Amino acid sequence: MPDTIFSKIIAGEVPCHKLFENEHVLAFLDIAPLSEGHTLVIPKRPVERLEELPTEEAAEIARQLGPIAQRVLAATGKRDYNVLQNNGKSSGQAVPHVHFHIIPRAPEDGLGYRWNAKEVGDEQLAALAEKINAEK
Ligand code: AMP
Repeated sequence: MPDTIFSKIIAGEVPCHKLFENEHVLAFLDIAPLSEGHTLVIPKRPVERLEELPTEEAAEIARQLGPIAQRVLAATGKRDYNVLQNNGKSSGQAVPHVHFHIIPRAPEDGLGYRWNAKEVGDEQLAALAEKINAEK
């Protein structure tokens, strides 16, 4: 299990600006926010990647994301937001403990989002879907 800054926050060894806590989930303000109200929602279990999280604990995060986002948006006067979750270095994950970003958005906030989509034919998509569906 990786010992990360988030484990220390969960243990209370490093302070955070806490927004929510229950048996499996902790939410707190990101220390280097992309926008006002940028929040991290994390499982208490110290796993690095989403697929390593027991499904019930992942489900508990999913249950809490919307209500936490609603409070953040109400307090910051925003309506739009991104939920972002990175897995692995090439995705941009810096802290090897599962976390969901809630990032409030506003028109012209300069944050951007559009990535360059690739062109692909329907046969390629069908072949890929078949390959994925063959995985257990
Ligand atoms: P990621 O790049 O998806 O791994 O995001 C990690 C996030 O953790 C970044 O947005 C950091 O600003 C945030 N972060 C790192 N250390 C702390 C901390 N001590 N308290 C709150 N947020 C943190």
